[in-house]
Amino acid sequence: MELGALICKPSNPLCNTCPISRNCKSFIKKDFALTKIKKKNKNKYFLLKVYKKNNKYLLVKNIKFNFLKNFNIFPMHELIKPKNFTQNINFKMSNMNMNIKIEYNNAIKSIPLSYWIDPKKLRNYTLPSFTKKIVRYLENNK
Ligand code: SF4
Repeated sequence: MELGALICKPSNPLCNTCPISRNCKSFIKKDFALTKIKKKNKNKYFLLKVYKKNNKYLLVKNIKFNFLKNFNIFPMHELIKPKNFTQNINFKMSNMNMNIKIEYNNAIKSIPLSYWIDPKKLRNYTLPSFTKKIVRYLENNK
């Protein structure tokens, strides 16, 4: 901890007093440029189901996915290595690149922990921006 705070500072590291300089790659190479390790986003594929009744959309409480846990989202499920996948929307979330295909459904089945939202009153709901963006996409692509 102290080495990082007192000796190996981001600018002007005190290499001459550093106890590990003999084994330090930066010191040996005389290269002190900070390099960030970029995490690669993982591609994931989802089928999002849109149920509409009286101009309202059905949302469900998310107890299935680790992202947006307990938030209200559209019913969806993950597709593993889908063939001929044509996405409608793409989201970047944490370390995930979400490719989402939208499927419109007429049949309304009973889904637990679900409720209907009016897209015209979107501001009144406490929803994640993920869900709001999808509602806006659906409204703009009717
Ligand atoms: S020798 Fe390496 S670890 Fe020590 S201060 Fe210099 S850059 Fe940091």
